[in-house]
Amino acid sequence: MSRNACPICKKPRQADHAPFCSPRCRDVDLARWFGEDYAVPGPPAAPEEVAPGED
Ligand SMILES: [Zn+2]
Repeated sequence: MSRNACPICKKPRQADHAPFCSPRCRDVDLARWFGEDYAVPGPPAAPEEVAPGED
């Protein structure tokens, strides 16, 4: 495995988006971080679906 591979999709990374190959993979990595942080069982709810109720 190349050290210059994107950790998300294993494609060659781009300097502009290091250590990823694209903004998309950077976002995927970020989403993983948030996913682990929340660590909730089951699929995460979309923000629109957890509205605080009628106002
Ligand atoms: Zn990638």
